[in-house]
Parts: sequence; structure tokens; C-alpha cells
Amino acid sequence: MGSYSIEKISAIVQGKLLARNQNALVDSLLTDSRKVVHAATSLFFALPGPRRSGHRFIQELHARGIKNFVVDFSFETKDYPDANFIRVVNVLTALQTLVAFHRSQFSIPVVGITGSNGKTIVKEWLNLLLEKDYQIVRSPKSYNSQIGVPLSVWQMNGMHTLGLFEAGISQPGEMQALQKIIWPTIGVLTHMGDAHSENFKDQRQKIKEKLLLFTGVNRMIANGDDPLVVETVEASGIPCFFWGKQAHCAIRVVDIKKEEAHTTIRLEVNEQEMASVLSLNTLHPPPLTFHLSPLTSHPAPLTIHIPFMDDAAIENAITCCSVLLAMGYSSEAITDRVHMLKPVEMRLEMKRGTNNCSIINDSYIADISSLRIALDFLEQQQQHHKRTVILSDFAETKDPENLYSEIAFALQQKKINRFIGIGSHLYQYKNKFEQVVAETLFYDSTEDFITHFLSTQFHDEAILIKGSRKFALERISALLEQKAHQTVLEISLTAIVHNLKQYQQFLQPSTKIMAMVKAFSYGSGSYEIANILQFHKVDYLAVAYADEGVELRKAGIGLPIMVMNPEESSYHAITENNLEPEIFSFPVLASFRQFLQEQGLQNYPVHIKIDTGMHRLGFELKEIKALAGALTNNSFFTVQSVFTHLAGSEDPGLDIFTEWQAEQYLLACTQLQELLPYAFIRHIANTAAIVRHPQLHFDMVRLGIGLYGTDSTAMHALELKEAATLKTTIAQIKKIKAGETVGYARKGILQRDSIIATIRIGYADGYRRNLSNGAGGVLVNGNLAPVAGNIAMDMTMIDITDIPGVREGDDVIVFGKGLSIAQLAQWAQTIPYEIMTGISQRVQRVYYEE
Ligand SMILES: *Cc1c(COP(=O)(O)O)cnc(C)c1O
Repeated sequence: MGSYSIEKISAIVQGKLLARNQNALVDSLLTDSRKVVHAATSLFFALPGPRRSGHRFIQELHARGIKNFVVDFSFETKDYPDANFIRVVNVLTALQTLVAFHRSQFSIPVVGITGSNGKTIVKEWLNLLLEKDYQIVRSPKSYNSQIGVPLSVWQMNGMHTLGLFEAGISQPGEMQALQKIIWPTIGVLTHMGDAHSENFKDQRQKIKEKLLLFTGVNRMIANGDDPLVVETVEASGIPCFFWGKQAHCAIRVVDIKKEEAHTTIRLEVNEQEMASVLSLNTLHPPPLTFHLSPLTSHPAPLTIHIPFMDDAAIENAITCCSVLLAMGYSSEAITDRVHMLKPVEMRLEMKRGTNNCSIINDSYIADISSLRIALDFLEQQQQHHKRTVILSDFAETKDPENLYSEIAFALQQKKINRFIGIGSHLYQYKNKFEQVVAETLFYDSTEDFITHFLSTQFHDEAILIKGSRKFALERISALLEQKAHQTVLEISLTAIVHNLKQYQQFLQPSTKIMAMVKAFSYGSGSYEIANILQFHKVDYLAVAYADEGVELRKAGIGLPIMVMNPEESSYHAITENNLEPEIFSFPVLASFRQFLQEQGLQNYPVHIKIDTGMHRLGFELKEIKALAGALTNNSFFTVQSVFTHLAGSEDPGLDIFTEWQAEQYLLACTQLQELLPYAFIRHIANTAAIVRHPQLHFDMVRLGIGLYGTDSTAMHALELKEAATLKTTIAQIKKIKAGETVGYARKGILQRDSIIATIRIGYADGYRRNLSNGAGGVLVNGNLAPVAGNIAMDMTMIDITDIPGVREGDDVIVFGKGLSIAQLAQWAQTIPYEIMTGISQRVQRVYYEE
């Protein structure tokens, strides 16, 4: 971490300093108002956002003790007489300039990683392969954006001997800034793929832009089998080691053999060529020691075994070997280390545990920056009052005293109620934890914990499990998790946040968002989804029935919640939980009014539904005058909003009808507004209307299916990510002769000798029976396997005759990456909504952040 005076920072970023305390020291950079750690020594960069300028958070941050801010010239500073302000033209540029300066203070080797896929895996693997020899500073998780990169590089200090940073870009012009911040000495270009990316003219332009990261490296690594990459790299003049099957590659891939659960890769290293590049030794830093054996004219063989079989892992592993070769490691050393590569869990997972706990499992990486990220996630879990952290020793460090103080401080900041430490280092520093956490417990080892484990020790709490691989804490999470069957619905919270941001950016900043979380958030969860929507500041939630709202209140959700179907029997639950009913008819109006009167409640918030042609619920136009009268002649109600629902907003063929509905709606609003003495929120647009009818955004939109990543317009106007993946596993594989049949009613008659796998999902899980007999299919190792025979209640048979290498226990994707819900819905002759909400509750939901 850097530590600079505010004066010095102002000079570095060429700002105009308005200093009340020139000696103030800054060591933490803050860009997100929700992530304050060291208030006194933080500098907040008020970055402009698509909806909210960072300026809007200054008042709150100031109240929380932050006294240093970087703002642009539009900000009025006079309300904060005790704070320091650096005023700049562009706040993002200031952040980047400061960290670029910080980077320039160090002359250690730095590996800069970019590409379309595999950046984070390559970075984490390099860390694993090199951590024995270096004190490494690296990007936390996938912090690779215009903001993430400076925050990552800011961590660099005098103890580090190697940096590993990744850089991602989404449009031209961004890489130059990142190059100055990372200033890599070794470049790594990972898989480029050929996915269409909107902001680039073509693939060549994209590669060219990425290569800007490597301006000034003294060597780079790239795939020599991708002709466009080779051409672009050669044109750039950057010294490069190519790896690949082609003859020109310095690191030649001679053979790749996939065996049971692992792959053997034979490489030949052309040392002469490598030495000639290394001897170029351009700009900096001091060259690394070069351990290769004396030069021969014959290529040196190098054989590696990796515990993976998929092509992406193979490519990433070869890339990592190439980096080690380029750093001067010997073949023996590389062979020795590479077999220990493990899958990188880049995600934080949350499952429901026994005794009503939520279990967050992050038991793979132990470092302070990923601990902070995990603690933020833990903090968002409003459903439990109690929070427990189970942590193992971190890897060796030169300064354990400081590290464990930092950890204890972070736990204190997040108000952790209970701390369970595993390992001798934590025990050694146990008083640091005892001082800041009410309840502490320490164990020598994971075994020690398991021996003493009592499940009743844990109830109604959110538990974060985090530690280094060595401790195998996944054994602890297995004890705490609910045992469920192997069919799981995985929900990416990251995707939901991404989708929300896509819509937020599309809307005017003043337009509110009501997130539709009815029917368990379209099948994907309840408070788990509401928590992140609350955290990311949607304005309203809507549920179908009162009990769904009660559930959210119990889980600590404080946002206003509209209930679309208030039943008389639920009025108590509604008012006791501060839920806001939709009033759609005179009988509902009368009975709710009666109830409010009995309870002595006044000005209760309600939402008025108008029927403009959907003919489901709502007041008709001819009833509006009478409605206005009924609302105004008493003080029981406050009309929060008036809305209607469109019948065909996704269908261009119904646009005229949609416009007609909107006109009717506006007429009703005008009539109501004339009689009501206050303003109300107007809203009509659902997901499809947000994109297709921007003129109908009015004061608020009701965002439903788009949040979960399904584009109901099929226009792809926004880049949505599907949040849900339904996965199961193969229970058994059989070889069956032509002419035999598979499943109930002998419907699946085999036309050829076949291999049939039985998977653990059936119609009771929501896998619809009309997908039987080839109508639907699932993905096995990325290949489509058609359904064979009739789908049964709990099981389905699939035909894997054409898919090599499938084994019992393998994962099967029912929908998700590579197989969209929309596709499945089409096969099942229904709509995505029905597929999503039809996944039964016996299917375990797992939530993760990427
Ligand atoms: C479900 C629902 C929505 C959301 O519809 P999507 O098509 O999923 O965006 C909006 N308004 C009302 C009244 C709804 O019932």
C-alpha cells in the first residue's frame, strides 16, 4: 500500500488542493462508499457514475469520518470546513495517475495479463507456481477494470518481489491508461476467442488494443497457433515467445494426450530462440537469472502432467509453463510444479446450511484483499443477525504481526460476532482477535475442529469459511451444509447485478426501478436476491402474495415492498410488516379501508392498479372518477403509485395496442391527479417495454425477467447475462443394443447400438415431460445429448453415443452457459418464465459471486 501526504497526492495528480490539514496521510484509496475500512486515512475518489455521481456520497462519507476527497470542479466544498479536497478535471484520470506514479517507485518484475478468456486463472496459477520464490502482489479476484487495476496496483509495497496483474478492456482507448499503471515487464496474452465484441471494429483491432498493455515489456507470451495473434504481435515488434503446434513457435506443442482425469503435454523448447529474445533485454527491469542448461541446437523436451482435460485448462497451463520458461525456470522445476495446479474457485458460494444458517464457502484463497471482498459479501446477508467467520492461517508472510492485526481490524469493522481460528499462527495472535470479537474459539487444525464439531453450535447465523487450500476447509463447509441431492440451480449474483446495471444505464438517472421478485424471484431465490438488490439500491420490490413479503421482512429487507395480490386474510401480515398492497377493485378498497379503520391506521401507502386492456386485475377507466372520490374523502390511504400492466410490450405486432394502453393509462392518471392533493409515482413498463418503449418509462419501471438475464424482446439491445444454471449429474451409463427401448411405455426405441446415461432430474424437479423422446436435450462436456425415451419423475435418460469420454458422476447442464432458457422453453413449447418458475423447491439453490 502506498502512503502519501495529501499535498504530495495533489501535486502528482496536478489537482487544486483545498487543504484544511496538509499533513493528512493517505494509505487507502476508496471508490465505493460501501467499502470504507480505514476512514481516517482514506482518500475518496468521487467518480462519475452512469446514474449517481460519486459527489452524492460525500456527505455520508464525511459523517463517517472520511476527510480526504478527490472531486471535480463542479463540487461545492463549503459545507465541509474540516475536510481536504483535491479538485481535478477528471477524477478517474487522477486515480490512475496517482497509482501510475506509485508503480513507478518499484523496479520489480511485473507480469501483465490480458486476453478474452482465462486471465484470472492464469494469474492465480502463476501465483501458485511462483509463490515459493517470490513475495507476490496480485489483483484480487478479477479486478481488471479501469478502476480495479489501480486499486490492485496500489497494494504494491517495498516487500514485494513480483507483481501479477490482469487487465480487461471493453472499448478502444482504455488499455493505454492501464499500461501506465501496471507497467508490465513480462506480457501474457491469454486466449483471444472470437466472440463478437460490440465496441471493436473487428478482432484485429481488439488484439491490437490489448497489445498496448505490452508497450515496454522485454518479452511476451502468446498463442502461436492463432494466425491473427501472430500477425498482430509480429507487426507490433514486441519480442514474443509463441507457443503452439506451428513450426515457428519457440515453445512447440508436440503432443497432447488426454487420459483418465488428466492430460500429458509434451513440449519442445527452442532454447536458442528463447535466448535470443532474452538477450534483447529491452527497457527494464534487471534481467532475471537465466537457468536454462547450456544451449544446444536441439530443442529441449519438456513433459508436463496436469489434472485437467478441457481445452481451456490445457491452453492456460501451457501459457503458465511458457511464462516460467521465459522467467528462466528449468524444465525439471516446471514439470515438478505444474502437476499441483488445481481448479481455481473464483467464486464466493453461498448455500443454505443446517439449523437455518447461510454458509459462504471461500475456502480456496487466503489473502487480505479476498478476505475483504468476502466480508463485504457476508455483511450483505441481512437474513441473520449473527455473523461468524471461520478462518485458517494464511500462507507464510514476512510480517505476520501486521497481517493478523489487519485481519482482526477488518473483522471488527464488519462487526463479526464470532471468530473461529484454525491453525497455530492464528492461535499465536489470538489476543488480537479476543480484543475485537465477542466470542472466539481456536483449533490446531481442521481435524481438531471436526473432532469437536457439534452441529447445534451453529444456528440462525451467516457463516463465512475462508482459508488457504492447505487446510482443506471444504470439509468444514460439508459438515455445515444442508445435504441435498445433486441437482442444483446455481445463481450468479454477479450476473444479476450486471443485468441491473445494464438497465440502470439505459434509464434516465431519475427513473426509479421496482424489481419484481415475485414467485421466489422468478424461481431463483428470495432474500438472497433481495439482499443484493437492496445493496445496489433499487427503489422498490414487488411480490405477488403477502407471505413472500413477510419472508423478505424477516430476512431484514427494508425496501418498500408492493404486494400485488393482497388477500383479506393477509391484511394483518401486510400492515404489521409495512407491506404496501395493490388496490385493484372497489371491494378490495372497501375491505382494506375497513381494516385500516379497525386498526386505527391512517395514510397507509397503497398502489392503484388500472386495467387498460390486459383484463386481469385493475379498475376500469369508467370507474376512475368514483375511485378518486373514494380515495380523497378520507385519510386512510396515501396513494404511492398508480400503474397498469401491458399485455404485449415485447411484440412489435401489438405496438398499436401498447400505445393505446398507455393513452388510457395517462387519461386515468390525469383524472386521479386532478382530485388527489399530492403527486404519485406513475409506472407502466415491464422488462420488454423498458427497451422497446422508452417513452413509457415515466417515473418508475418494473423490471422482471431481464434482471435474471432473459431478453424477452429477443432484440439483444442490452448485454444481459443469464443468472441461472441448472445442473445435475450422471447416475449410470449403459450400452444398449439397437431395437431395445428406453424408459416408461417403451417410447424410446433405439435405432442403433447406443450409450444411454441416466441423469438425476425428472419432471418433479421441473424438467418438463414434453421434452421427452428427443424433443429436448442437455449439455454433457459441452455437447448436446438428446433426451431418450420418456422423462420420469426423478430421472431422465439421455443419448450420449456420440459424445466421447463421458463418465458416471459427470456434470450435466440442463440450462445455463451454452444452452439458454429461451432454447429450452422453445423445445418445451412454453415461455422462459414458466421454465424458470417451475424448478421445484427440492432443487437446491447455490448463490455465487464471481
Ligand atoms: C411480473 C410483472 C412484471 C414484470 O414483467 P417482466 O416481463 O418479467 O419484466 C411487471 N409488472 C407486473 C404487474 C407483473 O406482474
